[in-house]
Amino acid sequence: MNILITGGAGYIGSHTLIELDNAGYSFIIFDNLSNAPTESLNRVEKIINKSIIFEQGDIRDAQALKNVFLNYSINSVIHFAGLKAVGESVAQPLKYYDNNVVGTLRLLEVMQEFHCKKIVFSSSATVYGDPESSPIKEDFPTGATTNPYGRTKYIIEEILKDLCVSDPEFKSVILRYFNPVGAHESGTMGEDPNGIPNNLMPFISQIAVGKREYLKVFGGDYATHDGTGVRDYIHVVDLALAHVKAIDYLSSEQFSREHSIFNIGTGQGYSVLDMVKAYVKASDKKIPYKIIERRAGDIATCFACPNYAKEILDWEATRTIDDMCKDSYQWQSNNPDGYKNLQENNGSFKF
Ligand code: NAD
Ligand code: UDP
Repeated sequence: MNILITGGAGYIGSHTLIELDNAGYSFIIFDNLSNAPTESLNRVEKIINKSIIFEQGDIRDAQALKNVFLNYSINSVIHFAGLKAVGESVAQPLKYYDNNVVGTLRLLEVMQEFHCKKIVFSSSATVYGDPESSPIKEDFPTGATTNPYGRTKYIIEEILKDLCVSDPEFKSVILRYFNPVGAHESGTMGEDPNGIPNNLMPFISQIAVGKREYLKVFGGDYATHDGTGVRDYIHVVDLALAHVKAIDYLSSEQFSREHSIFNIGTGQGYSVLDMVKAYVKASDKKIPYKIIERRAGDIATCFACPNYAKEILDWEATRTIDDMCKDSYQWQSNNPDGYKNLQENNGSFKF
C-alpha cells in the first residue's frame, strides 16, 4: 500500500519523503513541477539510497489522477500541492482558487471514486487571520483571512469537514503549519524560492551568501519585545515528522474526528531581529538590515499552542532556532543558486 504525495517535489513535501521512508512507508509522488525541479527528488533518492516513483501531473487533471490510482495501490494521500505566494494570490486570485480549491476538489472526487478515504492536508496558521492572542489554540476562530491564499486554505478545510460529515468512512487530518524554515541536515536539500524571496528566512540566507544586500525589516513599531513581528518558526524536518505521525494516527484505533486539526509549531515566538541575531551566530556572516514601514496585511504576533499535537499525535518539535539557522545556511552556502545550477550542470554536482 502506498501514500500518494501531491506536491511531493516541493520544499516541505521533499523533506517529508525522507521521513516517510525512514518510517517504512512507501509512496508515489504526483507533482506538476510548477514550483519545484525534479532535482529535489534526485537529492531525496541519494539520501534514502533508493529509487522513488514520480508521476508528473496536475491535480486539476482528473484523468491524470485516475491513472495514478489505476496504476498503483493507494490507501492514503498527503496533499501538499498548492500555490503559496500571498502577494501573487492578491494579484491573481482566480489562479489561486482554481489551483488550490478546484485542484483539491478534483483530488477528493477521484479519492472517493477509488475508495481512498484518508488524507492529510497542508493548511496554515493563516486561517486564524489576525488572532486575538497567542499562543493560538485550534479552537480559535478561523476564516477572517487577510488574502486569497489564506482563503483557499480556509475553504479547503471547510470542504474536508463537510466531506467527513457526509461520508463517515472519510478521515482527514488538517495540519496548520506555522512558519516552516530550515533545511535537511545533509546540506543537500532546502528551500529554493523563485526570484526574490517573499519570506524572511530565505531572504536572510541569500544575504548571508552575498546574493542580496540587506534585509528590509517590515515594521519596527509593533507591540512586541523589540518592535518587530513575532512568528513561530518550525524546522522543516520537525514539520516532516509531523506528517509521519499524522499518517500513523489516521490508521490508528485512536483516530477521532473531534481531534483531527492540529497546530504544527514550536510554541515559541521569535522576532525578526531575534532571527537575524541567530542567523549571524550560526553563519558568522553579517546580515545588514534597515527597518522600514510595515508590510500590508502583516500581523504583530503569531505563535502556536502545540499541546494538542503532542497529546494526540505524540509529536513535538525538537529543533531549535540555532538548528534552523545553521541548516539553512549550510544549504544556501552549498547551493547558492538552489537546485538550479545543478540542473544546468546536468546533475554533475558531487555530494
Ligand atoms: P512548494 O511550492 O515548495 O511545494 C508545493 C508543490 O506543489 C510544488 O512542488 C508544486 O510544483 C506543486 N504543485 C502546485 N500546484 C500543483 C498542481 N495544480 N498540481 C500538482 N502539483 C502542484 O511549497 P511548500 O512550501 O512545500 O508548501 C507545501 C504546502 O504547504 C502548500 O500547500 C502550502 O500552501 C502549504 N504551506 C506552506 C507554508 C510555507 O511557508 N512553506 C506554510 C503553510 C502552509
Ligand atoms: N519580514 C521582514 N522582511 C522580509 C520578509 C519578512 O521583515 O523581507 C518579516 C515579516 O514582516 C514577518 C516575519 O518576517 O514579521 C515573517 O514573515 P514571512 O513572510 O516569512 O512569513 P509570514 O508569517 O508573514 O507568513
